[in-house]
Amino acid sequence: MPDLKNDSQLTEVSSEIITFGCRLNACESEIIHEFARELGLTNVVIINTCAVTAEAERKLRQAIRKLHQENSDVKIILTGCASELNPDFYIKMEGVAGIISNRMKLSRDEYLKYVQNQPNVRTNDDGTYHGKVRGFLQIQNGCDQHCTYCVVRLVRGPNVSFSRDDILAQAKKLLQKGYREIVLTGVNVSSYGRGAGDSLPSLLRYLLKNIPELRRLRLSSLDPADLDDEFIRIITQEERLLPHIHESIQSGDDLILKRMRRRHSAAQVVEINEKILSQRPEMIFGADILVGFPTETDAMFENTKQLMKTAKISLLHAFPFSSRPGTPAASMPMVDKKIRLARAAELRNMSQKLLSQKMQEFIGKNVTILAENDYVAKTNSFLQVKSCKKLISGRKYLFHCESHEKKYIIGSPIELIDEG
Ligand code: SF4
Repeated sequence: MPDLKNDSQLTEVSSEIITFGCRLNACESEIIHEFARELGLTNVVIINTCAVTAEAERKLRQAIRKLHQENSDVKIILTGCASELNPDFYIKMEGVAGIISNRMKLSRDEYLKYVQNQPNVRTNDDGTYHGKVRGFLQIQNGCDQHCTYCVVRLVRGPNVSFSRDDILAQAKKLLQKGYREIVLTGVNVSSYGRGAGDSLPSLLRYLLKNIPELRRLRLSSLDPADLDDEFIRIITQEERLLPHIHESIQSGDDLILKRMRRRHSAAQVVEINEKILSQRPEMIFGADILVGFPTETDAMFENTKQLMKTAKISLLHAFPFSSRPGTPAASMPMVDKKIRLARAAELRNMSQKLLSQKMQEFIGKNVTILAENDYVAKTNSFLQVKSCKKLISGRKYLFHCESHEKKYIIGSPIELIDEG
């Protein structure tokens, strides 16, 4: 049997998954990829779409046109938030063979209708998804909040928490597949179990208790309004919960937070992060910030910049406000687009400064890293690392930090950490 490389013609007739948007989409795409592989879908491109910004939809339309131009025989199947929001528009685009709803996107049977009678077609992968180090695990879908800028809640529906036993089984499966780290994801992860007699901290305790071999657990974006004392207790006491959290803060101005219908204040974010740092000083905070929200003044934007410092944010993602159809914010007085883009650029510069300050604290020190490929890795606190010496993907190292450049700490591995 020649190695699979020579069968590349075969792979050209197999299927492809294109993912836009968030970690949840990435997680779902892995499951959809499994379906496509099992069903032996051919000449099909499945696009898991995103509607969080107008830009995401522009890129989607561009991708659909390009795919159709390159191969008019290929069947394009859309799923995800953009096709959910505007099915009538997307179904008319050339090359689009069908749309699968967000509710049905993880139902294998939905893809059956795209199976062609191609006996004995095999793809060239063994079911482990690109040999990735980090596996995403969805724990809930939808959201019960009403943030005024958000289109996601309109296309993902109400909060639905998956059963803890299903989550446990999926987590074990990911570890059996060789993933070294698991990231719990969803639309609003911190609302897990609400209204169902459960909670995220309780789920975390359950997973860590029942899977002793689960050594590295991460969380995707968290709503500061949900980070109560129970959450602070487990994130500060449980070593296997890695010392990095990403908070969807969105603004540092309380009036803007009110107009966004967010449930936290700037002071509350500072208080939460101070409490966590007082018990786990190695914790690193990331944040999502939306700049240029309707009515945001220069003074309000200054409050946001100030909060990034007082809340000790090191990994900052800044997004210019994008008006989305059907959201209350779409009918509020807009901030000029140039100002929105300028504020986003300013915050991205600030993000680099905050990151450089944080990386400087590591210079001369030894840290634990998990290699993601030959020369790139991440620290337990989610800082990116570039190694001067070759690494083995998926292995842990004690690493000496020598310098930093742009988004990376630079240095050399001292020794492999054998977890036995
Ligand atoms: S918490 Fe707000 S921004 Fe997040 S998904 Fe829910 S409604 Fe949207």
